[in-house]
Amino acid sequence: MTATLIDGRALAARIKERLRREVGDLARVIPPIRLASIEVGDNAAAALFVRNQERAARELGIEFEHVHLPAGIDEAELIQAIKRGNDDPRVTGILVQRPLPPGMNVRRVQAKVHPDKDVEGLNPANMGFIVLGEPKLVPCTALASIKVLLSTGVDPRGKDIVVIGHSEIVGKPIAFLLINLFATVTVCHVATQDLAHHTSKADVVFVAVGKPGLVRGSMLRPGCTVIDIGINQVPLLDASGRVLKDEHGNDRTKVVGDVDFDSVVEVAGALTPVPGGVGPVTVATLLSNAVAAARLQHRDQVAPPDLSLTAY
Ligand code: NAD
Repeated sequence: MTATLIDGRALAARIKERLRREVGDLARVIPPIRLASIEVGDNAAAALFVRNQERAARELGIEFEHVHLPAGIDEAELIQAIKRGNDDPRVTGILVQRPLPPGMNVRRVQAKVHPDKDVEGLNPANMGFIVLGEPKLVPCTALASIKVLLSTGVDPRGKDIVVIGHSEIVGKPIAFLLINLFATVTVCHVATQDLAHHTSKADVVFVAVGKPGLVRGSMLRPGCTVIDIGINQVPLLDASGRVLKDEHGNDRTKVVGDVDFDSVVEVAGALTPVPGGVGPVTVATLLSNAVAAARLQHRDQVAPPDLSLTAY
């Protein structure tokens, strides 16, 4: 079998096209949707990520404001900046960019974002709504991963689904969203004894760990669907296994997921490529959260957001 590759870029484009129309319609009724991106210190990799978010937001007509704080500030000052965003009616969504400087408690900081402005879905209230089966603003990667699965036409109801990775922002919310959809969910993690024992029985496998090659074709049930969420930078090798160098003599690298693509593509029925799978849908989902957040804050003027997982 050769797996169908799930085109995350095409799904993201469809989501953004619908959002563009929605943002245009909302603009006639409510003030502009505006994301405030709170950034502490300078980090080249994070800056690139933030520029991508900004470009994607502006393409849809969503305003994007940088709140750049110096590296030396303490947690209380960061929380003050978040509170200013919470209190500013022009700001409809707040992003706290990571990594934060050492010593700051990401979870404590994130909890200060008002739940209705929490476009990353990391406030404990929003996590709680997921567990209660009434999701509002959901962590973007988790929601994107579910949307990718649903886009293939697979109905999770009654399926055996394995989620590998149990982080707060990816694995746990995916698991709860799937339970809400009546899947039978097994969560595997760093202490799982025999990963293949679980994955070999699964109809669908989600993997979000950060370990290239963790899932191999021999661990899977033929025809299953694999949603690879991992993002790993690995050396680029030539045919004889030597690391290729760029013109400056540095190692060349490429981005891969958590699955061993060559063996998994032979066994699975459908598979997300990395790059081009969950990643682009995650960015689109941040924007759909931004629109949902604006609707929540202007609930007296516009209809509430469509929070069903099949929206868009
Ligand atoms: P994390 O480090 O917070 O969590 C890693 C998880 O992997 C933990 O739950 C841990 O128990 C589990 N784990 C570690 N070793 C394991 C093993 N050998 N077998 C089974 N489970 C194991 O990471 P995270 O923030 O959840 O991110 C996971 C991956 O997803 C990373 O590669 C990250 O870059 C990627 N990611 C992708 C997107 C996207 O948009 N595609 C967004 C966020 C994160």
